[in-house]
Amino acid sequence: MTVHVPSADLSQIAERVEQQKAYYHRGHTRSLDFRLGQLKALQRAVQRHEPEILAALAQDLGKSAFEAYATEVGFVLDELRFISKHLSEWMQPERVKTPLVHQPASSEVVYEPRGVTLIISPWNYPFQLLIDPLIGAIAAGNCAILKPSELTPHTSAVLAKLIQDTFDPAYITVMEGGVEVNQALLDQPFDLIFFTGSTRVGKIVMEKAAKHLTPVILELGGKSPCIVDRGVPLALTARRIVWGKFLNAGQTCVAPDYVLVPREDMEPLLEAMAHEIQQFYGHDPHLSPDYGRLVSSERVTHLQQLMQGETVFCGGESDAKAHYFAPTLLQDVDWQAPIMQEEIFGPLLPVVAYDTLDEVIARIQERSRPLALYLFSENPAHQEMIMRHLDFGGGCINDAMIHLATPHLPFGGNGGSGMGAYHGRYSFDAFSHRKALLKRPLNLDMPLRYPPYPAWKEKVVRQVMK
Ligand code: NAD
Repeated sequence: MTVHVPSADLSQIAERVEQQKAYYHRGHTRSLDFRLGQLKALQRAVQRHEPEILAALAQDLGKSAFEAYATEVGFVLDELRFISKHLSEWMQPERVKTPLVHQPASSEVVYEPRGVTLIISPWNYPFQLLIDPLIGAIAAGNCAILKPSELTPHTSAVLAKLIQDTFDPAYITVMEGGVEVNQALLDQPFDLIFFTGSTRVGKIVMEKAAKHLTPVILELGGKSPCIVDRGVPLALTARRIVWGKFLNAGQTCVAPDYVLVPREDMEPLLEAMAHEIQQFYGHDPHLSPDYGRLVSSERVTHLQQLMQGETVFCGGESDAKAHYFAPTLLQDVDWQAPIMQEEIFGPLLPVVAYDTLDEVIARIQERSRPLALYLFSENPAHQEMIMRHLDFGGGCINDAMIHLATPHLPFGGNGGSGMGAYHGRYSFDAFSHRKALLKRPLNLDMPLRYPPYPAWKEKVVRQVMK
């Protein structure tokens, strides 16, 4: 049965934003105590609603309890703990130097909230990708309107309930619904928009934001390459790639989109990856409780079309009605193939042969900057060469995806894969404005800068400012 999300009343959207602006200007959200109290309330609410969240993720995407906890609920609880622990230190104004010409004076950078923010999330990690940015918004002292994806209706309903039970809607609220709700929200004069989703919609968001000069953080997608160098242990390499690719049935923005392998290693790598798929999900992944489902039957049909004409090394079976698509390896795929022209965002892994790393670098440089890049190599010169020549959001050497599961690294894209970053301290920074403040006493004044400007003043200024 298809479940639809209820749509927020479009005529109320402007009023909701106004309410939040009024709430924000009252100044409650600024104190450390308020922010920590709200983070604590969110933590308790997530813990209290955990069974409903896991059930909704199983209904929407067939996520196992392990995967749902590790990549969604546990991920968010970790971030809540980390940010709450460091918040008071991050909120301190940062003392910086003042140039001699402005002395006597002191200077500081003050971290201020942005104001009323809009957070829009996609369906693939529908809980984490809405709540994780919200943690940054609360920590930095903002109000927020949250718009979950309409394609994961069970999770959207739990999110709406959790937020409604926990926060004053004048401070934080959820607006459920489809594209029309997004469009109406994007017409409003927010102080920051944090968008996670496709590059196509990211462009629409940025265009709409330009009307109000609203700053945007865009967490987008793209084709993330995985490069396998000569001489690596293929069994472990295969295990790490297969884990990264088929987690959440390939519907992860930083999943390896395609693998580049030395021509002579293609068959052994394919065999090693097929072996790992069987180790993880058994002979028939359809029966595995640990293998997820696609978000819709349309996505299954689209991937079936994308696969046409390719050589299937293993997998390939699908059932659109059940939203099932087997973990699939495609052998010796050409750079020009349709599947190499768009983000796959599903459990199809094309393997492309190469002869030299120069060729790999040239091919990737021709394309839009990826969100992630993975290199399996034990050769320091090759590691250095790839990192020096290729631009991308973030990535790993000798693993896949785990660079996003640490609060110590910024997570975000580059160029076509997005702008801005978050997680840990970077979330606080993303939702803060750095206000510059220079303080001077009024009991002392240097007349140098005031007209008239005789020659001696110019001489002094040239001495001081060279
Ligand atoms: P999407 O861009 O279709 O949808 C994202 C959000 O935008 C949804 O809430 C949707 O309601 C809204 N939306 C859709 N069409 C719109 C329109 N015309 N105008 C205004 N709003 C609109 O993305 P998706 O299919 O939900 O998610 C998949 C994409 O998200 C992939 O490209 C993936 O790589 C990317 N993604 C990126 C990250 C990241 O952190 N960088 C994380 C997850 C997913």
